[in-house]
Parts: sequence; C-alpha cells; structure tokens
Amino acid sequence: MYELNICHLYPDLLNLYGDRGNIIAIARRSQWRGIKVNISDISIGDKFDAEKYDIIFLGGGQDFEQEVIQDDVLNKKGNEIRNAIENDKIFLAICGGYQLLGNYYKTWDGKEIEFLRALDLWTIGSKKRMIGNFCFECDFLKTDSFDGRVVGFENHSGRTYLGPSVRPLGKIVKGYGNNGEDGFEGAIYKNVYCSYSHGSLLPKNPHLTDYLITLALKQKYKDFDSLEKLNDEFEELARKTMIQRIVG
Ligand code: GLN
Repeated sequence: MYELNICHLYPDLLNLYGDRGNIIAIARRSQWRGIKVNISDISIGDKFDAEKYDIIFLGGGQDFEQEVIQDDVLNKKGNEIRNAIENDKIFLAICGGYQLLGNYYKTWDGKEIEFLRALDLWTIGSKKRMIGNFCFECDFLKTDSFDGRVVGFENHSGRTYLGPSVRPLGKIVKGYGNNGEDGFEGAIYKNVYCSYSHGSLLPKNPHLTDYLITLALKQKYKDFDSLEKLNDEFEELARKTMIQRIVG
C-alpha cells in the first residue's frame, strides 16, 4: 500500500483563507485511491525533520504572522528547509509562505523582513492590495483534454519578483499574480511550487492536486506509474463556472 507523509508547517499561524484545505484535498484524493496519508503539524518550537515527509506545506499569513514566526523559521528550521529544497523535497507554499521562502520582504510601511533565501525571489509591499478571484495557465498541466487553467483567490500587498533560477508557476489570464506587472503568477524551483492563490488552491484545481500527488508517489516508489482516474465532473463544473465568471 502506498503511503504519503504530509507536513503542515506553522498550521496555527500560516493558514489564511482556509489554506489547510490544500492538505485536505491532497489527503482525500489520495485516500479515495487507497493511498494512506499521515498529516503532521509542526509549529514554533517543534523539531522539524524534513526527511520524514513527502510533501511539506506552508500556507499564507499576514505581515504580522510572518514576523511572529521569523525567528523560529530563520534560526531553527532554516537550514533544514534549505537543504530539503536543494535535495528535491516537494513543497507547496501559498502567499505569505511563498514570500517566506524568498530573500526578503519589504513591507509597504518600509520594514525589511529578512526571509529564508531558499528561493531567489523577493517581495516589495505596496499600499494598493491585489485582491480578487484570478485565473492563470500552467503549461505543465496542459494535456489534450485539459487547458491548464487554474482558478483561485488572491489578497496580498507584496509584489514578488523572481531571480533567474526560479521560473513562474503560470501565466496570468486574469488578475494580478506575482506583481501585477509582468503577467506571471507563482514560482517553481526544483520541486517547490509556490502560488498567491488562496481559497483554497487545490480543492478548486484537482489537476494540480493530482500532479503533486503523482510527483510525490513517483519520488517515493520506483514502481508507481500513474493515479487512478476519479470522477471529477462536479469539480470541473465548479472550475469552469469560476473561469466563466473571472475571465468572461
Ligand atoms: N503579508 C503578505 C502580503 O500582504 C501575505 C498575505 C497573504 O498571505 N495573504 O503580501
């Protein structure tokens, strides 16, 4: 029997707009296929051993929460996180968690918060928040029967810019994404997937959920080939309705 170990980092502090729903989506879609899932919550003061997990999740948090965890994440868990990323561990990071993996965050009121420097990206806050439902297109999800379009909800003041080693997660169809300027959303570096999409991202986008589950199972089990298909009629109707409303 296949088994996945998922870690939610700082679940009590990084969990904006129900970001935990991403873990629930990974767990349910795995369990529906007979895959066993264990979820561990690791927060401030807890020992973090990345080796134990197949997928590590960081949700969103406001500037305040990001400051609260700064000491623990930089000084206690930083090396472990950076090493895990360099060793191809799978991460999903949303909004505040995404920003945290980068170099720094300059808040809209001029505070500079040093971050993990695990991914070469940086974030500059602006007074105008970027809020709303949005839609972006991921080339790596496109198939003959799937358009690669992902829907979500964003709410951030930070504008994120990617360095040369990091590529965007997708191209904006409608909305702001990373910075409202360059037309890109999110980031990919090795097996780290980052997005500004809350709401939550994965329950609304089963293709992306299955992509991450497949990645994790392939990494863990040499004999794993592909996931059994599920009946996603309802999810597809929801996603298409959202696209219709957002894009028109
Ligand atoms: N504090 C960050 C910002 O406003 C992240 C917010 C969030 O996670 N929604 O840019």
